Amino acid sequence: MVEKIAVRVPKQDPKSRVHNFQEVVLGYNAAQAVKEAERCLQCKNAPCIIGCPVGVDVPKFIKLISERKFEEALKIIKEANSLPAICGRVCPQEEQCTKYCTLGIKFEPISIGKLERFIADLNVNQGSPKPRVASTGKKVAIVGSGPAGLTAAAELAKLGHQIVIFEALHASGGVLIYGIPDFRLPKDVVNAEIDYIKKLGVKIKNNIVIGKTYSVDELLHRFDAIFIGTGAGLPHFLHIPGENLPGVYSANEFLIRSNLMKACRFPEYDTPIKIGRRVVTVGGGNVAMDVARTALRLGAEASIILYRRTKKEMPARDEEIENALEEGVKFHILSQPLRILGKDRVEGVECMKMRLGEPDESGRRRPIPILDSTFTIDADIVVVAIGQAPNPLIPKSTSNLKVNKNGTIWVEKETLMTSKKGVFAGGDIVTGEATVILAMGAGKRAALSIHEFIMNKNRR
Ligand code: FAD
Ligand code: SF4
Repeated sequence: MVEKIAVRVPKQDPKSRVHNFQEVVLGYNAAQAVKEAERCLQCKNAPCIIGCPVGVDVPKFIKLISERKFEEALKIIKEANSLPAICGRVCPQEEQCTKYCTLGIKFEPISIGKLERFIADLNVNQGSPKPRVASTGKKVAIVGSGPAGLTAAAELAKLGHQIVIFEALHASGGVLIYGIPDFRLPKDVVNAEIDYIKKLGVKIKNNIVIGKTYSVDELLHRFDAIFIGTGAGLPHFLHIPGENLPGVYSANEFLIRSNLMKACRFPEYDTPIKIGRRVVTVGGGNVAMDVARTALRLGAEASIILYRRTKKEMPARDEEIENALEEGVKFHILSQPLRILGKDRVEGVECMKMRLGEPDESGRRRPIPILDSTFTIDADIVVVAIGQAPNPLIPKSTSNLKVNKNGTIWVEKETLMTSKKGVFAGGDIVTGEATVILAMGAGKRAALSIHEFIMNKNRR
C-alpha cells in the first residue's frame, strides 16, 4: 500500500527564524528521504520527466535513493542538471515535475525537489566531474553568470570546448547570489555548485561589463560563438507621485544591499540599510515575499504586502506565501497604491481598494478600482517589487541584434540563435523574468545548438 501523505520536511520555527538569515527549510535526513522515495510508483511513462525543463531522470534517481545508493543517484541527477542543490530549493516543482506526478492524482505527489536537494546536499564528491573529454580547440564566450549562463557553460565544457564567462558583478551566480536571500538559498550552496562548474574547466571573469569593457562584436573576433544570458535586472516602477522620496527602494536595490553587500550583517559589513518600523512591499511574486521576509529579519516591526489581486492570483510559490504568513507578514490584498506620502521622506502610502473582474490577457482576473475606497497605511520604507525588464545594455551596444518590443532579445525558436550569426541567447533576457529552471533549460538547449554551430562552422 502506497503512503498517501508525503514525508514532511522539517523547518526552522517561525518565531526564531524571523531573527536570523539561516535557511528556513532544513531538508530531509537519510531515513526521511528513503521513506519518501519508497512512495514512488516508478511509472513506466514517467510524466515527471516531461515536466522537468532539463529532463532529469526522476524515477531513476528516486529508485536509487530508495535503495540507499546516494552517490549513484547524484550522478543521475548531475547528468541532466548542473545545479541540483539550487533547483531542489527554488524550482517551482508544483508547476513542473511534481505537477505531473501520477501519485498527485489521488494523493500527495512525491516531493521530488526535496529529494533532489537531499542528494545534492550530501555533496558526495561534488558529483565527481566526468574526466575531461578531448579539447575541441573551440572557444565560447558566455555573458552573464546566472543560471542560464552557468548551465550553458557547464554543458559546453562537458563537450570539450573552452569556456569563459564574463560577469559584470564581483560575485558570480546572477539572481541566485544577489537576489534570493540566504534563508531560502544559502550562498555556500550556490558557491559550491559554481565550484563544480569551474572544475569542469569553465573560467569566470568577474567585474567585466560586456557592452562597456568589451562589446559583443569585439568578442566575436576572439571566440567561435557567444551566449548571452544577461537576465532581466531592470526594475519596473509604479510611476505614482512620491516614488522619488527617500525611503523608496526597488526590490533589486533592497535585496542587493541585503544579500550581496551584506547589509544584513551591518556594521560588520559597511553597507547600511534603512528599515524603520513599518515596511510596505508592493507586489505578489517571489521577489515581494523575499523582500517582506528580509525586512522582518532586518528588524521591521511590521512587514506588509500590498497586492492588487487576491492571494490566489499571487505569482509567488505557495510554499513561500505560507512561509511569509507563518513569519507574520501581513497581506493587504485587493489594494492598489495611488501615492506615496511624506514630506522629506516616506511616511505612508495612499491606496485604493480593488475588486476582481474578468480574466485579462495573463489569464488572471483583472483588478478593477472601487470608487471612493481610498485608505492610508503608515510606512517608513516602501519597496517596489512589481517586476523587472530585460537589461538593455547588450541590445543597445551590439550591431544588428534584433530586439522585441518589450526589450527581450529575439532568438530563433529551435536553436536560440539571435539575428547575429554565432550569437545565441537564453534565460530572462529572452523570455522576460521567468524561473531558474527555465533559464537553465534555455542554457542547455543553446549549448547543444552552439556545439552544432561551431563544429560545423567551417563547413558552412
Ligand atoms: P540572471 O540570474 O539575472 O543572471 C544574469 C547575470 O548577467 C547577472 O549576474 C548579471 O550581473 C549579468 N550581466 C548582466 N548584464 C551584463 C553585462 N552587460 N555584462 C556581463 N554580465 C552581465 N525563480 C525561481 O525559479 N524560483 C524562485 O524562487 C525565484 N525567486 C526569485 C527571487 C528574486 C528576488 C528574483 C529577482 C528572481 C527570482 N526568481 C526565481 C527568478 C530567477 O531567479 C530568474 O528567472 C533567473 O535567475 C534568470 O536567470 P538568468 O541566467 O537568465 O539571469
Ligand atoms: Fe514517481 Fe511520481 Fe514520477 Fe511516477 S510520476 S515515477 S510516482 S515521481
